[in-house]
Amino acid sequence: MSARATALTGRRASYACIMQSGLAERVLAELAFTPDLALCLRCIALRLDFDLWGVGEAIKELIESGAILSVFTMCADCGEREVVARVRQKPW
Ligand SMILES: [Zn+2]
Repeated sequence: MSARATALTGRRASYACIMQSGLAERVLAELAFTPDLALCLRCIALRLDFDLWGVGEAIKELIESGAILSVFTMCADCGEREVVARVRQKPW
């Protein structure tokens, strides 16, 4: 996990062992930078200047690790009601 993602989420211990790709770390850092930020797949790909397929795989990885969740609501960037990704809040 990158230092930026660690600083923003404080979740190094819980995610370091299961985070695999650098792109997943970039996606998590982007989403964690602004509290309660929820972005659709296309807007995350635009922000990171990466292809949709790669970002989709990174999001799948982050959902499987429990770092983010997927909900149906308005995307913060494009304003469309879509399935968006956002950082999962700690339950405590
Ligand atoms: Zn969007």
